[in-house]
Amino acid sequence: MISTIFSIPQLILSATKAPFFPSWKKVYLSGGSPLNLDLTPFGLCVSGIFFYIAIFRYGFLEFQEIMKEVVFLEINEGILVLDRRNRLVDFNLACKEIFSWLDFSRIGIDITIFPEGKKIVEQKKPEFELKLIRNRESVYYAFRKTVLTEGSESLGSVYFIQDITGQKEMIRVLHDIESHDSLTEVYNRRRLIEELEKELQRLKRCGGCLSILLIDIDHFKQVNDQYGHQAGDEVLKILAGACMEKVRKTDLFGRYGGEEFLVILPEATEDNAYFVAENIRKFTENLVFWANGETIRITVSIGINTVYSNDSSLNTERLLQGVSSSLHHAKKSGRNRTSTSK
Ligand code: GH3
Ligand code: MG
Ligand code: MG
Repeated sequence: MISTIFSIPQLILSATKAPFFPSWKKVYLSGGSPLNLDLTPFGLCVSGIFFYIAIFRYGFLEFQEIMKEVVFLEINEGILVLDRRNRLVDFNLACKEIFSWLDFSRIGIDITIFPEGKKIVEQKKPEFELKLIRNRESVYYAFRKTVLTEGSESLGSVYFIQDITGQKEMIRVLHDIESHDSLTEVYNRRRLIEELEKELQRLKRCGGCLSILLIDIDHFKQVNDQYGHQAGDEVLKILAGACMEKVRKTDLFGRYGGEEFLVILPEATEDNAYFVAENIRKFTENLVFWANGETIRITVSIGINTVYSNDSSLNTERLLQGVSSSLHHAKKSGRNRTSTSK
């Protein structure tokens, strides 16, 4: 097709040399020309009129058609055309790169025989995303479907397909930055609250219980004052990493703020939560940090709050208030201890 476009000037050139166009120059030179005029320009004018009529009246070169087909084939977006019975009508090169099962020998077959084809035509919405596996990696595609109609009758559909893996990855990275604490690299307060809300919804739906722990470093101000703010930062980082290892994969741990950390323990009873809290507390008591050649030791106080699905008012605010008052109790009782809400 591209060769057709490139051949247009050649076509015109060869046409002017065709036998039905006499060699005007020869006629003129041999003296056979009327009034001894060079007829070449007149000849070109006449052939120009013929070309004009051929191109614009009869669509001789069908330039628009050629252009449409080139765009269809060369565009980066995948294009898949199906008839109303989901039979393959056409596709472009970009689409072939996405679906290896596409082949011109398969024009006319129902694409639902291919699992990916079935997945595409099963989608109800005109715009949807699909995750496909390519070379053992997940690739995300955004699909836009346009139904082709004639009057009220549906003729088929065209799918425009775009690879959005890069955009997805960028969103994931941004979301990660947004939900992690920059110093300790654990979840930040915003993410913890989000997760807590989700867990409360799950608790209301599925029943059971949920416990949370609020861990606060004792006299942390003194650590900063005595060893410097940088040493304090190191303590926070190391403690966060150590606590992460003390909780289950299904538990959520993050920095609630300052020198306070929150643990969400789905399905943990108060006894389960107490066990985890004591494990963290005793472990912390034995940790030794180093700063400027000196050793730093810290302790933590921990508050626990446990709620059950049949509790009358299950909400994040009350849950956090409860755990804060348990922590306050632990501090008042002498620090380096765990307190429950009872
Ligand atoms: P308590 O036992 O009552 O909890 O005493 P505390 O000193 O730990 O509590 P207080 O609220 O008086 O002080 C908290 C300290 O935590 C003060 C603040 O400078 C320190 N802190 C909060 N965030 C950071 C941080 O990111 N890095 C460092 N180095 N210190 C922090
Ligand atoms: Mg505090
Ligand atoms: Mg403190």
